Amino acid sequence: MVSTFPNSTKINLSRIRPSIRSLQPLLVEWRRRFHQKPELGFQEQLTAEFVSQKLQQWGIEHQTAVAKTGIVATVRGKKPGSEKVLAIRADMDALPIQELNEVPYRSQHDGIMHACGHDGHTAIALGTAYYLQQHRQDFPGAVKIIFQPAEEGPGGAKPMIAAGVLKNPDVDAIIGLHLWNNLPLGTVGVRPGPLMAAVEFFECTIFGKGGHGAIPHQTVDSVVVAAQVVTALQTIVSRNVNPIDSAVVTVGALHAGTAHNVIADTATLKGSVRYFNPSYQGFFSQRITQVIAGICESHGARYDLQYHELYPATINNAAMAELVRSVALEVVETPLGIVPECQTMGSEDMSFFLQEVPGCYFFLGCANPDKNLNYPHHHPRFDFDETALAMGVEMFVRCVEKFFG
Ligand SMILES: [Zn+2]
Ligand SMILES: [Zn+2]
Repeated sequence: MVSTFPNSTKINLSRIRPSIRSLQPLLVEWRRRFHQKPELGFQEQLTAEFVSQKLQQWGIEHQTAVAKTGIVATVRGKKPGSEKVLAIRADMDALPIQELNEVPYRSQHDGIMHACGHDGHTAIALGTAYYLQQHRQDFPGAVKIIFQPAEEGPGGAKPMIAAGVLKNPDVDAIIGLHLWNNLPLGTVGVRPGPLMAAVEFFECTIFGKGGHGAIPHQTVDSVVVAAQVVTALQTIVSRNVNPIDSAVVTVGALHAGTAHNVIADTATLKGSVRYFNPSYQGFFSQRITQVIAGICESHGARYDLQYHELYPATINNAAMAELVRSVALEVVETPLGIVPECQTMGSEDMSFFLQEVPGCYFFLGCANPDKNLNYPHHHPRFDFDETALAMGVEMFVRCVEKFFG
């Protein structure tokens, strides 16, 4: 990946207030605890139990078992002046990956690993809740902290919204962050508009007519049909999508046949679609169906297509993105540490919250090549520089202060 940002932006710890810097050992302890006991989506029992225990201990009102394992906590400010409500969202789930890191805090759950940094997100949100509870006199209104399950799939944001987490008291705006190993520690990736892409999956089975490899004229060769489908699908982005817009169509799996001399009866393919511009919602499913139907028809094959719209694009509100950017300017070492060209075709179900209320999702750089902490997300050796934890709390707290200020 070509980086357009400085390779080692030094983090200036003096930008992190002493009362948050002093939380760092706790943040690290919590994060490592979550890391050692990772849980898959909607199974975050231990994680939620620990979060709830801490909130209870600090006297923070909260509701558990929201959308199975989610938690929503409310910290009410004591300063008069505003009735507004700002929400902070953190995801808690891990991935079905066997950890290869040899660290004292490595995963104790076989085949499950926090390889995306959600352990850090949970720790940062918990630290933010703690800090805000101790400093209620400094802000008016209320801050809702949403601990969300199952971001990696099938998605916990939608059921949490359905369960009413944005209501009573009604949320006016929302922020959230992702620890980001594509950016070095000491940087913040933030931009208005689309940050992450919409994602859709499809599975297709092509039914031909199998037969002897030497007698093709008596068959309908599903391999030939599937090959044409794969090639033709590439024209959707290159010929049908406005070149100003970004989109990806990927066929990630193609299976057919068993032997040299047998014409395959069926072929299956699996693919994914990504795009930023919401006006393409429904477009790809329609176009993919047309392409598959047309090619199958011309060969006398049949098909079955399953199409799933998963997460919409993550689109930041301009005013909220500006609020986060101005806060980041106070926290990072140099303005160069603000990275607006941080868009990715990856996806996030934070997008559902951003469809409901104005908000901003941003990336918090946490890679540190000097410490070998720069493996990509979802890699079995993923880990990040934990200095980012205190920086995350500082970012959230300053966002709260600026939002109500
Ligand atoms: Zn992930
Ligand atoms: Zn993630």
